[in-house]
Amino acid sequence: MSRVYLSVPHMGGNEERYVREAFASNWLSTVGPNLDAFERAFAERLGRPAVALASGTAAMHLGLRLLGVGPGDEVLVSDLTFVASVNPIRYLGAEPVFVDSDEDTWMMSPALLAEALEDRAGRGRRPRAVIVVHLYGQSADMDPILDVCRRHDVPVLEDAAEALGTLYKGKPVGALGEVGVFSFNGNKIITTTGGGVLVAQRQDWVEKARFWSTQARDPGPAYHHTEMGYNYRMSNVLAGIGRGQLEVLDERVRQRRAVAFRYRDAFADLPGITLMPQAPYGLHTNWLSCFLVDPDRFGATRDDVLRALEARDIEARPLWKPMHLQPLYAGCARQGGEVAERLYERGMCLPSSSSLSPDVQDVVIETIRSVSRRESRSRGALQP
Ligand SMILES: *Cc1c(COP(=O)(O)O)cnc(C)c1O
Repeated sequence: MSRVYLSVPHMGGNEERYVREAFASNWLSTVGPNLDAFERAFAERLGRPAVALASGTAAMHLGLRLLGVGPGDEVLVSDLTFVASVNPIRYLGAEPVFVDSDEDTWMMSPALLAEALEDRAGRGRRPRAVIVVHLYGQSADMDPILDVCRRHDVPVLEDAAEALGTLYKGKPVGALGEVGVFSFNGNKIITTTGGGVLVAQRQDWVEKARFWSTQARDPGPAYHHTEMGYNYRMSNVLAGIGRGQLEVLDERVRQRRAVAFRYRDAFADLPGITLMPQAPYGLHTNWLSCFLVDPDRFGATRDDVLRALEARDIEARPLWKPMHLQPLYAGCARQGGEVAERLYERGMCLPSSSSLSPDVQDVVIETIRSVSRRESRSRGALQP
């Protein structure tokens, strides 16, 4: 068996045809029919205008700038997340404030967010934005979050990089706040090898983001600039991959969910190993299959499990390390953090590719079962 990875690209079939069309027509830059078609298909799915960009991180950067984030501002953001949710706050000279997770969903706690906003309102210091992260394919509980943000007049950017295909009360996440951001990095549920999309409630914001993404050159033949831009546009070649991938997104969602539920069922008789919560308000894609290991009940620690998997050349990882534990963000303000810390100590992501075969998944399952106390006991009982 060759190395088993956490999450690998999985092409649908039409990607190469769209890429060939880009070559045949010589649309090999940041303009062309694949880009138009990809953005159109994406906008249709989300119900909001969309612009295709070079990465999810670039989309975060432009999204925060659309919300007016600048030097000295505070931006509230989920503590338990990947660092790319937070770095763009600093790109703009602003300061992150970390908000802890809700134990029942692992997503940003609406109660702690309300506390953080009230605390700041009391000091006359309104944050410029709130970034809500939809982690591992699960939606945050958006109704109370949007309510409290509206009450305090603070706009919401949804980091849906890990949550394309995820629903909240039947609606796609990313289209609930003012701005939404997606990623097509190689490990995400669909990929363009690298890329991102920004969607927004306002058409003029999407146009502004598109303008900034191509160096903000003012109309006319001259190289005339009044605003600062970036080189953040997606290429028409990669948009061809995106078109093909979007066609199979629903199938990928079904496959990722099936992988997670197959692990869950295979561990059902083992104490102390539990699938990430599946919040009742949404459709959780289970982009990654995440589990908590309770060492007392399981009879081994999360790190014991990771070591056993690595010994068989299987890639598995701890959950994201909370931002308040990062040296990069030491000393930043936060509301809570203990829940994220506990999840980080006990949580792990197992191989979750939509192309993961049952045979290979069985090896992962058997390896984990062999680490548990229950299995060690029954192995012991068989010996004379
Ligand atoms: C992957 C990811 C990003 C960044 O996306 P890129 O396309 O890799 O730049 C941002 N936020 C979260 C939560 C992610 O998982």
